[in-house]
Amino acid sequence: MSKHTIVEHLQSFDVHVLHRMGALREPLVSYPMVSFRWSGMVRLTANKWRVDLTFRSGASQTIWLRWSPCNFGGHRPWFVCDRCNRAVGKLYNTGSSLACRRCLDLRYASQRRGAKLQALKLRLRLNGIASLDKRFPSRPKGMHRRTFDRLRRKAEALEADLRENPHFRYRETDYSVLVPR
Ligand SMILES: [Zn+2]
Repeated sequence: MSKHTIVEHLQSFDVHVLHRMGALREPLVSYPMVSFRWSGMVRLTANKWRVDLTFRSGASQTIWLRWSPCNFGGHRPWFVCDRCNRAVGKLYNTGSSLACRRCLDLRYASQRRGAKLQALKLRLRLNGIASLDKRFPSRPKGMHRRTFDRLRRKAEALEADLRENPHFRYRETDYSVLVPR
């Protein structure tokens, strides 16, 4: 699967769609029925320079616009991602904010890394080795059965999530995630 699978099933918010709607003109206009098109958004107010959004969660966000000249005359609009300040054509809706693909990929990568780190640490704590494709370690001598069962359930849940993830890769042993960056 492609590197972008996770972001691709988020709803996209395309600057050209707004432009075609006629929303990017001088007067500031509110669009109350916006949730028909973008679920999770309850209000959109836009003009040539900004898009103000309110999400169902109550969160709000202002996306600034930038215009660049086209080769054949006229100007084309861009969103400015408020996390990285890059000009992009599409932002993705996480349900409470919009961000560009690159910012979201970085965030998901660090979440996956966090879950994997936790799963590997649990195996190490149970005298296992830091690999998710080895047999799950058995109960260490001196550890209470109840403690072991609790840790094993936690590890199993984390590992099941990781394995379902299209980015999961088996590796012999992986100590890389245990090294702080
Ligand atoms: Zn960004």
